[in-house]
Amino acid sequence: MTALCELLKQDARVWDLYTARKEYGSDFTSHDAPVITHDKKSAIPEPAVSAYLIEHGATFDYGENRTFAVCLTHDVDEVYPPRLHSWTTEAYYGLTAQMSNLMTSLSWRRKGKEFSPYRNFEKVMDLEEKYGAKSSFYFIASPRDIHRFRYDVEDVRDDLATIVDRGWEVGVHGGYYAFDDVDEIRHEKARVENALGANRKVVGYRNHYLRFAVPDTWRFLADAGFTYDTTYGFNDAVGFRNGLCHPFFPYDLNRSELIPILELPLVIQDGALFSIAKSEEAALALAKRVIDVVERHAGVVTLLWHNYIFDFPLRKAWATCYEHLLEYCAQKGAWITSGEEIAEWFSKNVSF
Ligand SMILES: [Zn+2]
Repeated sequence: MTALCELLKQDARVWDLYTARKEYGSDFTSHDAPVITHDKKSAIPEPAVSAYLIEHGATFDYGENRTFAVCLTHDVDEVYPPRLHSWTTEAYYGLTAQMSNLMTSLSWRRKGKEFSPYRNFEKVMDLEEKYGAKSSFYFIASPRDIHRFRYDVEDVRDDLATIVDRGWEVGVHGGYYAFDDVDEIRHEKARVENALGANRKVVGYRNHYLRFAVPDTWRFLADAGFTYDTTYGFNDAVGFRNGLCHPFFPYDLNRSELIPILELPLVIQDGALFSIAKSEEAALALAKRVIDVVERHAGVVTLLWHNYIFDFPLRKAWATCYEHLLEYCAQKGAWITSGEEIAEWFSKNVSF
């Protein structure tokens, strides 16, 4: 089998799509750079580059009769409910007469930070374990943010230890201003590793708000020692940003070489899914359609569900949708796991 990169070079249209040529030259170097958004039409869920690879003989196999993979990820934007979340949660429980939930929501600040409802990592892991799944949690380690201070990662040391002790993954959720600053990326990685302790290394990354500069952010992440990134996707759509539903090594068109970091393209994000679907049923149906497409291409579907939505009653539909999707993928016999495990599998089994 030819290395995948050589195969891609043989078709100019496929090559341009895979290398994200149209994203070069945009000015994403300023700190005022906008959140990356895309014309929704460009995100029709058809992975043209993956389809091309398969037509030309590429095969992907995940062992143990698993025909496709699901990469589960959680951006930990919040560890403590912001005031607005607390007020709406309390109003919701009050209006729906859920008194014990209301008392829990009112009392955690008095009881202490460790009782915050958004420190729900064990609950999320328990849910995933029911379906034989594992996931990745990406933590913020920057005090600077466009909206407000989020949390100190050192406050959740115990949670980080629990996550990795159970075999789930802890990664870095790069700060709002990190994507074009290699020193900042290095600093945030070191800070999460320090909070993890025991000389543990983190290998996975996703930037807050999916802020990203092609190809510089990939280069910075590789230089900082990350094994993989999973930022490359949409904030306002679902689908395949460069036509791939498989992990890939990005190609730097300026230097004419592969960048040594694996990209696990983000396919479905909770907020984007629910913003484009008109109802809960439509969101679930759309997500299942995208999963079916990835299954047909023996690919990897990366899901991003924020951890706070599992304990924010106004986002209950998002949590319910997540469990339905876990059940759907488990019934199909998918390999459902963390970014770290997918990246390790890909590095060992695929020649790019
Ligand atoms: Zn974020």
